[in-house]
This record gives sequence, C-alpha cells and structure tokens, in this order.
Amino acid sequence: MTERVDVQLDALTGLNAGQPAIKGVPREPAPGGNTFYLETFGCQMNVHDSEKVAGVLLGRGYQQVDTIDAARLVLYNTCSIREKAAQKIYSRLGAYAKYPGEEKIIGVLGCVAQQEGEEIFERSPWVRLVCGSASYSKLPDLIAELEAGNRRVMGLDKDTEATFETEITRRDNPFRAYLTIIEGCDKACSYCVVPFTRGPERSRASASVLEEVRRLADAGYSEIQLLGQTVNSYLDPSSKRLSFAELLVAVAAVQGIRRVRFTTSHPRDFGRDIVEAIDAVPELCDHVHLPVQSGSTRILREMLRTYTREEYLEKIAMIREARRPISVTSDIIVGFPGETEEDVEESLSLLDAAQYDGVFAFQYSPRPNTTAQHMPDAISEEEKGRRLARVNDRQREIQRMRNEALIGETFEVFVDGASRRPGQWSGRSSSNRILNFTSPRENLLGEYVSVRVASSSPNCLIGEQVI
Ligand code: SAM
Ligand code: SF4
Repeated sequence: MTERVDVQLDALTGLNAGQPAIKGVPREPAPGGNTFYLETFGCQMNVHDSEKVAGVLLGRGYQQVDTIDAARLVLYNTCSIREKAAQKIYSRLGAYAKYPGEEKIIGVLGCVAQQEGEEIFERSPWVRLVCGSASYSKLPDLIAELEAGNRRVMGLDKDTEATFETEITRRDNPFRAYLTIIEGCDKACSYCVVPFTRGPERSRASASVLEEVRRLADAGYSEIQLLGQTVNSYLDPSSKRLSFAELLVAVAAVQGIRRVRFTTSHPRDFGRDIVEAIDAVPELCDHVHLPVQSGSTRILREMLRTYTREEYLEKIAMIREARRPISVTSDIIVGFPGETEEDVEESLSLLDAAQYDGVFAFQYSPRPNTTAQHMPDAISEEEKGRRLARVNDRQREIQRMRNEALIGETFEVFVDGASRRPGQWSGRSSSNRILNFTSPRENLLGEYVSVRVASSSPNCLIGEQVI
C-alpha cells in the first residue's frame, strides 16, 4: 500500500497553507505555470473531497493559487442538492467567455458534473474536464490525460469498488480533520439527488480508517470528524466487521484524539449502541445530527424516509435518556409536493417535541433523476418561503430558550477563531455549541479552555474563560 501523507497547515494559524515540505510536493511554483484554483460548493463531504483533489494536484507538482487570473487549471467542486446551488455553477462558467483559447483548463467536479455530464461541454464549450463525485478515484488519470494534451476528459462512472483515498490530502482546516468513512448512499429519498450523483454506498475498511486517524493524530490533530451521507450506515468491508459504534470507540481510543464527531446520521440506522458508546467514551462528542425532514408521517412516507414521526421521536427519546446530555440537530424540508397546512403544523410541533439545538431548514427544490421531481401538487415558491420562515421562527425561539437555560454552565471549548478585537475568541463545545468568549490570555487558537456562559443568543453562547 502506498504511504499517504496529511499535509498540515502552518502551525494552527488557519491562514496560510504555505507549501509543506514533504516528499513530492514542491515549495515553489512548478515550472510551466502548473497552478490551480479550486472553489468548493456544498456540504462538508465536498469540502473534504476538495482537500483530497488539492492533495492529488500538489502531488503532481501543481501549486494552489488564490485567484482565477493566476491559475492555469480552474476547478469547481460543485453541489446539486438544490437547484440554486447548481445554477451558481453555470453562472461561474459563463464568466469564462472572457478567457478564450486553450490557456486555462476549466474543470467541473462533483455532483453537478455527475448530474449534467456531457451537457456541461455543450453549454460551456471551454470546459475541458468533467468528473463526477462517484469517480474521483480516476481523477489523477484524468488530469494526466489533460496534461498529455487531450482536449476533453470525462469521468462519470459510478465507481462501486473504490472509495476516494488519496496519497496526499491537503487539509484546509487546521483544527478539525475530516475523514470520509462511507461514500455514496443506498437510501432512495424521493427528493434527493445524492444516490444518483454519488453512487451506491461503499464503506472504507476499519483498519484503513484507523491508520489515517493515527497519522492525523501524529500530525497534531485532536479533533476528527467522520463523514458520510449516512455515516451510521457504515459497514466495515474487512474481516473485522466493526459496527459503526465499534469504529467510533476505536477512533476515540487513538492516542492524541480528544474529540470525535460524525455526520450525517440516518434515523433508520441510528441504534442504542451509538448512544451507549457516547455515554461510555468522553472523546465521542455529545452531539448527533439526525435529520428528520418532516414531522408528518404522511409526507415522510412520500419522501421514502423509512420511518414514521413516532419512530423518529422514539430515537430522540433514546438519545435524551443518555447519562450525558447529548445535543441534537436536524434538517427539515418545507414545501414538499402535496404538503398541507396540517403537515406544516406537524413539522412545527415536532420541533417542540424534539427540542433541537439547531436546525437547517430548506425549501423543497425539485431535482432531476429523483422520483419526487414530477409529483403533483407543487407548492408555490412564495408559500414555501412563508413555511420556511415559520419553521425558522419557531426553532429560533426554541434555541433562545435552550441556550438561556445554559447560562452559568461551564463548557470545555476548543478554540478555533480569534476576533479582530483583542481578547475575544470563539470555539465549540463538544456538543457543537458556538461559544464566543473573552480571555486575558494570548495565543489561544487550537487550545482547549474552560468557558463559563454569561449570556446567550439563539445561535451562540457568550462567556469568559475560567482561569
Ligand atoms: N444524507 C443526509 C440525510 O439523509 O439526512 C442529508 C444529505 S443532504 C446533502 C443535506 C440536506 O439537504 C438533507 O438533509 C435535506 O434536508 C436537504 N435536501 C436534500 N435534497 C433536497 C431537495 N431536493 N430540496 C431541498 N432540500 C433538500
Ligand atoms: Fe439523500 Fe436520503 Fe441518501 Fe440522505 S439518506 S443522502 S437525503 S437519499
């Protein structure tokens, strides 16, 4: 097996990646102007895929630059989960009419690439590389073909075997290392493009995951976030056959790891063993992101979510029974075709029942290659907007009350941000709450500190360091 390297940013500044002094990765711009610009849209999985794409390019002698003008290779890692996200890419590509000729190599990666395929070449003839997220393991070969002078290259296979493991991953976040343990999705939610754009589920062998975690710990990372569209559907393909909960415990046991997060969990595969693991192992963060999508069993059935409102709330009750308080966040879609006023009320009452610590609410967006795309009884955009505002208002009030109840408590905070104002810092608790706080101390980035909460808002806690 080839050795893989995780390139850390310069110390914990979070500012300048610089060029890491590792074998095969030059510090200076490569001859011939092998420079790349990479812009990422969408979820954390895309962010992490971009880290791997950057690693592949650095390994080939490219240098990353901050502007399109300075780049020879311009890549967009795209998201197509909602229509607006997909449209953004075409508006970016439209701008390239001003770069005629062969000088710049424009590439579209990710979900829009997978979804639109060759059509991207038709609509934007200056694009030379189209590579879907399900075939990233072919990316090094595709780039080699471009370098050899091929005019257009395309990778759109649904790669069922390989997960996207790279020799070098250039990590952008100096505080939290992302690590994909399962690619693709085998669920078939009727509104969702992911099974089409990312292909079927493929889990990474537990030994390979643990080896990478050890390397990350050696490189100085103390917080790991395990990623997957349905991360808890993880199925260890090796003979060890670790369950997801067992893998969590094993990752948390790696020396130097202080926090382990995971996202996104699917309610169907969320079992008591995960809660028991969190209860037993302090390094496992006390936060679960468990998207519900709707509070109405009727709509959940139409969405093919595989659980009812009651079954979902039983999972929440199970989480609330843990000995350690576990914060829970969720995703909700409003305006799914045929959603009635009663369905909206059910989503609102589910917010009351679940008492989430955070919710991402979205207006339903019909997507190609999904079964919901042509469902009757579409809801107008205006009405979707009203429903979204109702969900957000109700949730804001819940968060206001929940955060207020935390005044006076003390949290361990991993500091990942510094305000321009001296003495002001921010970071996250294990429960993923944002804490903005003051401290007389300097150089707190990357430190774990205790913070007592003095006041709150719906989206954050405000306090001071306990010294
Ligand atoms: N795999 C995760 C799950 O099952 O909950 C979510 C993945 S998806 C990238 C993130 C969120 O986008 C979903 O939870 C859903 O709320 C939202 N989403 C997905 N498809 C959507 C659509 N067609 N319209 C609006 N929101 C959508
Ligand atoms: Fe999409 Fe459903 Fe799979 Fe999540 S579980 S990625 S929402 S199909």
